[in-house]
Amino acid sequence: MLTDAHHRTIDYVRLSVTDRCNLRCTYCMPENMHFVHKAALLTDHEIISLLQILAAAGISKVRITGGEPFLRPGLMTLLEKIKVIPGIKEIAITTNGVLTQRHIPALHQLGITNINLSLDTLQAARFVQITRRNRFTTVMDTLQSLLQHNMQVKINAVVMENVNTDELIAFAALTRDNALSVRFIEEMPFNGQGHSFSGITWNYHKILDTISETYPLQKINDAPHSTSLNYHIPGHKGNIGVIPAYSRTFCGTCNRLRISATGSMKTCLYGNDVLNIKEMLQHDAQGLLPAIQTAIHARFANGFEAEQQHTEKNMESMSIIGG
Ligand code: SAM
Ligand code: SF4
Repeated sequence: MLTDAHHRTIDYVRLSVTDRCNLRCTYCMPENMHFVHKAALLTDHEIISLLQILAAAGISKVRITGGEPFLRPGLMTLLEKIKVIPGIKEIAITTNGVLTQRHIPALHQLGITNINLSLDTLQAARFVQITRRNRFTTVMDTLQSLLQHNMQVKINAVVMENVNTDELIAFAALTRDNALSVRFIEEMPFNGQGHSFSGITWNYHKILDTISETYPLQKINDAPHSTSLNYHIPGHKGNIGVIPAYSRTFCGTCNRLRISATGSMKTCLYGNDVLNIKEMLQHDAQGLLPAIQTAIHARFANGFEAEQQHTEKNMESMSIIGG
């Protein structure tokens, strides 16, 4: 078991499989984002070795993220290999939906049915403004296809002041006829452009207050370690949720590790990188698990403490961290 000094058990890893992306969401990265050389990425072999070590130490859930995970060549083969690692009980994916659709039947067959689809607007023109790319129709087709294949879909929508707050009700309305969850994420300062902010207007309270002016919201149970607070609108098939990513109300039960595409490990989204996994796998594989255990033990109590020690504040892109 991997436990920290605050009695939290870590059983979930978020693994970025590429830093590259085919969108340029303004809240995530600049247009001229610098991507690392391919040789710097974890290889399939390194990823499997790492996950075998983590699974033997109690990690049971893996979320594949990026960058855009489906840009990694051979992703489906990698997923097949992860699927058979003893101890890995659940694989989930976070994707922007641009290249996802053709893989849905194979994902379903592999038992990978938990898909988070990032979608911040339901308007084609606004999609171009937010993502700097004209792929709205493709992403909406992916959404339809995911639902047709009975995948468990969660739409992740980052709520941005003066950008998409007028669409909260339209997003909530999607849950009427569709068995999906729409989760509204507070914007965080990881935009890779150094645009820091010292507060947000559209925090989860304001998001919930705004939706409840139109729809009655019934609180429903949140899954253990959930980062979202979840609600049901009576008569709707799906649910809505808010993710207080900036307010950080969920740190007390945080059960996750983050590994970047180059193998940097974070024990907190708001903290520094604490370990270089690629280097350790290449030069001291035996020492990797003890080093991971030490790093986890030294974890901060919450994201505010971690942020105070963070030396690269607000400069990172979420595409490197993996969300
Ligand atoms: N490219 C994939 C996608 O967009 O789903 C996976 C990687 S993306 C970095 C993972 C998640 O991070 C997405 O849901 C995205 O909306 C979220 N994200 C990125 N930048 C963010 C920011 N500054 N604040 C809040 N969420 C952010
Ligand atoms: Fe790419 Fe995802 Fe970042 Fe958008 S949020 S730029 S899709 S990595």
